[in-house]
Amino acid sequence: MQTLTSFVQERWIAGDGAATPLFNATTEEPLAETRAGGIDFRAVLAHARDVGGPALRAKTFAERAAMLKALSTAIHAHREELIELSVRNAGTTRGDAKFDIDGAIGTLAAYATFGAAVGERRFLTDGPGVQLGRTARFWGEHVLVPRLGAAVHVNAFNFPAWNMLEKAACALLAGSPVIEKPGTPTALVAWRVAEIVVQSGVLPAGAYQFVAGPVGDLLDHMGPQDSLAFTGSSGTAAKLRGHANLVARNVRVNLEADSLNCAILASDVDSSADAYGTFLSNVALDVTQKTGQKCTAVRRIFVPKERVGDVRADLGAALAKTKVGDPSEAETRMGPLASANQLRDVRAGIERLAAHAEVATGGAKSIREKGWFVAPTLLVARDAHDAAFHAEEVFGPCATILPYDGTPDEAIALAAQGGGGLVASLYSNDAATIERVVLGLAPWHGRVWVGSDKLADQGLPPGMVLPASIHGGPGRAGGGEELGGLRGLAFYLQRTAVQGFKGYVESSFGSAPSA
Ligand code: NAP
Repeated sequence: MQTLTSFVQERWIAGDGAATPLFNATTEEPLAETRAGGIDFRAVLAHARDVGGPALRAKTFAERAAMLKALSTAIHAHREELIELSVRNAGTTRGDAKFDIDGAIGTLAAYATFGAAVGERRFLTDGPGVQLGRTARFWGEHVLVPRLGAAVHVNAFNFPAWNMLEKAACALLAGSPVIEKPGTPTALVAWRVAEIVVQSGVLPAGAYQFVAGPVGDLLDHMGPQDSLAFTGSSGTAAKLRGHANLVARNVRVNLEADSLNCAILASDVDSSADAYGTFLSNVALDVTQKTGQKCTAVRRIFVPKERVGDVRADLGAALAKTKVGDPSEAETRMGPLASANQLRDVRAGIERLAAHAEVATGGAKSIREKGWFVAPTLLVARDAHDAAFHAEEVFGPCATILPYDGTPDEAIALAAQGGGGLVASLYSNDAATIERVVLGLAPWHGRVWVGSDKLADQGLPPGMVLPASIHGGPGRAGGGEELGGLRGLAFYLQRTAVQGFKGYVESSFGSAPSA
């Protein structure tokens, strides 16, 4: 059995103590294991802070950007191998595996472009300078400088490549050394990516460390210049938010948690509209892509009451014909869930919701003897305001139609019942409805996606996280923010106001420093 090693202090080590097995999600065959103990996390943090940090900060943005580009190229060279590994370990179809791996490659490349545009600087200037005194002699600028700590990234199992590298891209470009911990069930993919990163030799010593297995007492040793970025469930997020040392030392924490994302079909969109076709295909994609294990997947579908019959029939038919099975077979459109725990939780979640709904297609049954399979499931709520549909994420191929009265106000109120989400999508061809609903949704969502006839076949679906737009959301979604071009670097930088004589302050720290 392969033991996944950790890359710490420039060497690969196998942990010791209790082992956690990883499986092939289709056959349940054991593939590898991680081991919990044997890592000195205080030393790991010190290595990042004392060796990796100075080496990264000595480089300009353009130089760090070049490293990201080289990493993107190195991973791309192993794309086929990584796709196959993902199919085996994570139960993804080839298409779903590409979504993760190409997402990682593309995000690194995008941040290489953002960094190259900053050029030969080692800090960023935030916004225009301001006159602070009676005359322009007393002047202020805001600078963003690299913090001196380590960036610890605790990642979810569902995007083993993308989740690690979208975080690493922002941190490394900002000048922060990273310590990456993948979600265990799919850690084989993350581990191979880590091996490629290390073997590429692109990053200076100390800039990248990888922990296969639990993080032990690492959080107890984090300090005020360190940062923790977490992606995962809201239960774990709450534990980390309340971690005594992180609270006591005001360690920066960014949480990306779960979300009851919604899709809203506006009453102006009838079945003949292109926007209706886009709505159906996006929702069906969200339910089945990565077997519904996508933080941005639609869980609640708000449909005007008089349209529920049509949507139930159209969406139900699309989901029922999805070919579920072995993800290594070309015709398969949806594979298994990633782990036995996932199967248990998803089945229990569907049962819980189905007690308050009609099952249009699918259900809570396991549909194969071996592997962790459920069918794509569409439910129709008896009462859209029932708290059951707004309380808990079922992290699998399941979504619920919630009938509403067709008014913007009710759609906004129902969306808000989710307590804060990553993304809400709206399908409308009416400019006044779009403006009204977007402004109503925005306080509760990190991203609002608007589908219309004008965008048919032109846009990317709402489930896709793009490096140029922010990702994250308030409340239940964790309250965090990632990506969004250079905005994603702010978490790893200190924003400092610089005040003084304009001649000195502006020329050194202004956005267009004089030569
Ligand atoms: P999870 O069980 O919360 O685990 C997330 C990560 O935290 C894993 O690496 C896990 O390690 C680690 N972990 C668990 N307990 C910990 C502790 N006490 N201290 C330190 N680390 C700890 O979530 P998951 O099952 O991997 O992921 C699914 C969830 O992630 C879903 O709810 C989904 O919505 C959410 N998600 C959110 C986003 C987003 O961007 N907002 C993106 C993807 C997924 P082990 O695996 O070793 O236990």
